[in-house]
Amino acid sequence: MSLDELYQEVILDHFKRPRCKGCLQQSSCNFTLYNPLCGDQVDLSLRTSGDRVEDIAHDGHGCSISQASASMMSHLCKGKSVQEAQDLCATFRALMRGEKSEDEAASLGDAVALAGVRKFSARVKCAMLAWEALEKCLEKPANAFSTR
Ligand code: ZN
Repeated sequence: MSLDELYQEVILDHFKRPRCKGCLQQSSCNFTLYNPLCGDQVDLSLRTSGDRVEDIAHDGHGCSISQASASMMSHLCKGKSVQEAQDLCATFRALMRGEKSEDEAASLGDAVALAGVRKFSARVKCAMLAWEALEKCLEKPANAFSTR
């Protein structure tokens, strides 16, 4: 199996069996982002406790890349500190921009499988959607609610 095929498997697995899917009963931030070019929607709900991302869930619909990315991001960032989650967002963006190699972005776990997306600029927005929603939530004070 080639690396591309392996990555494809990881993406499909997250798409078919999304981790952290749904909506939190108690959240400190809800944020919805759309990618009209592709028809993707990611609804993120997140609860922080102190400086920690206590819980994350995502809902929405769209292409396999947008939904798999939301699953990977949620699973990865749940339980991390706010600072760690922000760092992971920055690392993912750098991977998408080609500023970091897959090895340099190993802290992203399964999300490294999305590295191939950077060759298709139209799809980078799909992959970034959930991470941008996370950044929006993390830059807000607790108990702020927002949708766009
Ligand atoms: Zn998409």
